[in-house]
Amino acid sequence: MGRVWNFSAGPAALPQAVLEQAQRELLDWNGSGASVMEQSHRGKRFIAMAERAEADLRELLDVPDDYAVLFLQGGATQHFAQIPMNLAAPGDSADYVVSGHWSEKAANEAMPYLRVNVAASSKADGYLHLPRRGAWRLDPAAAYVHYTPNETIHGVEFHDVPEVGDVPLVADMSSNILSGPLDVRRFGLIYAGAQKNIGPSGLVLMIVRRDLLERAGRPMARIFRYAEHAAAGSMLNTPNTWGWYLAGLTFGWLKAHGGLAAMGERNRAKAALLYAAIDGSDGYYRNPVDAASRSRMNVPFTLHDAALDAAFLVESEAAGLLALKGHKALGGMRASLYNAVPLEAVQALVGFMRDFARRHG
Ligand code: PMP
Repeated sequence: MGRVWNFSAGPAALPQAVLEQAQRELLDWNGSGASVMEQSHRGKRFIAMAERAEADLRELLDVPDDYAVLFLQGGATQHFAQIPMNLAAPGDSADYVVSGHWSEKAANEAMPYLRVNVAASSKADGYLHLPRRGAWRLDPAAAYVHYTPNETIHGVEFHDVPEVGDVPLVADMSSNILSGPLDVRRFGLIYAGAQKNIGPSGLVLMIVRRDLLERAGRPMARIFRYAEHAAAGSMLNTPNTWGWYLAGLTFGWLKAHGGLAAMGERNRAKAALLYAAIDGSDGYYRNPVDAASRSRMNVPFTLHDAALDAAFLVESEAAGLLALKGHKALGGMRASLYNAVPLEAVQALVGFMRDFARRHG
């Protein structure tokens, strides 16, 4: 079997050109006679590559100098716990906006370290819309406000950055980072697991305002302290060298394809095509999310009769459409449309959905 259209929620599709470059360079990277995975992170070649990756990311997102860029490990989940350790002192509280599975989990993981104030939640409504803005109970004395701009499972996304006053805004952008233009200055800290829009799992990208690194946080080992990672250029210990390298290739690919403005346009067009097919199917397919809260990255949908789910999955896979099975929490289907998923993939999916509906009535 050749390459298929891959709608996986993560680890997810990577740009084919990135994979081909990695393949070309696998055995002999950069004239070194060895793979990038086989060399010291302190070597000249690796340091130059790492610096270029950071510079490209800074260019793509226009990251100001008063923000550090970190290449960390542990998955986004580890940072659910590590962020409160670093940004809050014992006795502090932080505001959490709960808009789906992942923001709820972030709040739960923070609880051992501070008082979590759930400032807003749409859980009672099944996370079918974003928490209504007028009803947020933000605390001006909070150590930070945490939210999840895109909920990978529930398929809800913020289409603007919430106004939270002077309290630093912390965002888990695991599933929508680099999917369009972003004003980094609005944030205190942005973090993202790499395995959707950046590269392989095992790498976490963090962009953090430097003054927040000076917060005392709580007593902890050096390895947990972001300020130490920043001071060591993310080489406090051996970084995920392979992940860093692939992230760098992806940043280069994004630059070569028009940067984040072009990516934002592409992603808007892809999502519009799929939602139009769902909404125009006379109820054969259904996405229950409030239209203004719908995600451009993750589109959960159900068939009008769940008894058809198994046939849909078997036939879609046979048609070269991979990983459409929905998350077990919601059932049904989910199509993830990250940067590396081209418009042609969505066209193929929409064509298949129409054909399936015709054949199965
Ligand atoms: N946050 C979001 C928004 C996610 O989608 C995911 C994973 N799908 C996570 C956090 C957890 O990431 P990890 O498995 O890298 O810890």
